[in-house]
Amino acid sequence: MADKKDYYEVLGVSKSATDEELKKAYRQLARQYHPDLHPDDPTAEDKFKEITEAYEVLSNKEKREMYDQYGHAAFENGGMGANMGGYSDVSEILESIFGGFGGFGSMFGGGGSRAQNANAPRRGADIQATATIEFMEACKGKKQVLNISRMETCPDCRGTGAAGGSESEICRDCQGRGVVKSMQRTPFGMISSSKTCPHCGGKGRVIKNPCQRCRGAGRVPMQREVDVEIPEGINDGATLRCYGRGDAGVNGGPNGDLLLTVGVKPHPLFTREGYDIHCTIPITYSQAVLGADIVVPTINGNEKLHIGEGTQNNAVFKLRGKGVKRLNRNDHGDQHVRVYVEIPKGLDKKQKELLMQLEESLESKNYAKREGFFKKLKDMFNKD
Ligand SMILES: [Zn+2]
Ligand SMILES: [Zn+2]
Repeated sequence: MADKKDYYEVLGVSKSATDEELKKAYRQLARQYHPDLHPDDPTAEDKFKEITEAYEVLSNKEKREMYDQYGHAAFENGGMGANMGGYSDVSEILESIFGGFGGFGSMFGGGGSRAQNANAPRRGADIQATATIEFMEACKGKKQVLNISRMETCPDCRGTGAAGGSESEICRDCQGRGVVKSMQRTPFGMISSSKTCPHCGGKGRVIKNPCQRCRGAGRVPMQREVDVEIPEGINDGATLRCYGRGDAGVNGGPNGDLLLTVGVKPHPLFTREGYDIHCTIPITYSQAVLGADIVVPTINGNEKLHIGEGTQNNAVFKLRGKGVKRLNRNDHGDQHVRVYVEIPKGLDKKQKELLMQLEESLESKNYAKREGFFKKLKDMFNKD
């Protein structure tokens, strides 16, 4: 290290340079020689290391005095200044210049990252819950009682974390700043970085006599029974957001939300498609042939439905407005009634004879589809 250059020369400033002049010189040189800008030039890295080291020393009042008095010897292994603390703003300067460079922070071991303010209000976390309800409950809405566990403001200390109205005091490790500076040896010289004060967790104050119940955290987990209004018309799998019913906030921040995901059980007769209800009603052969008034169940009770003469299997009738009420609206979906013509089985001899008599009396015009089918079949063979 005999040929180590003078720190003032490295930065190109006079021995009487002010802090402002030092900073300006360092900014300019750092911008010029940052290794990210010269990936193929190893001398740039050496140069950058050199200027950073020089600035580290000269920007620190005590180190600069040591250097002025003893030169480089002050900082060589075992030298008086080697383990000297003190704060340098290198990482802040570099961050302000190169803040946008990807991967820059990793070069300095994260020294450039800022400590978060532990006293800032923070919103509580959202909590999740599920409930399974009956089909009809989903159509009509219901009040659901949920058992949930959430963080609540500690009732003993009202969230202060201090026992019996005692006061917190300023953290001695960080003098209330919440951050502590530490020096790190890096390939570019000694770099100072700031990190959250481990003693007070960044709050700047410590609780001398912590609340027994929350151990100073200010919040405790609570088991709660809460009522949630499940609105009329909710669909299977929908998630309801119940504002402010999640975990309590911190430092006066708002509560999180309760997110309730609702499962809906199937119904033996009805299915849902959006706000429409579907059901299938079996009718008799004679009802289909002759027409009939049938009774149809809906989610709001029975309705009369007229089936016309000659109704075909799988015909669908619509009961307008008899479906589910739309969420946040006043109108309803429809109910779709599909009729299934049930062919009678197990007829006795007499019944079969009667049916044969009926069949013989019918003509091809009574069977429009059959007539159409055979006409098409005939046309197909007559083509050749
Ligand atoms: Zn407490
Ligand atoms: Zn502290």
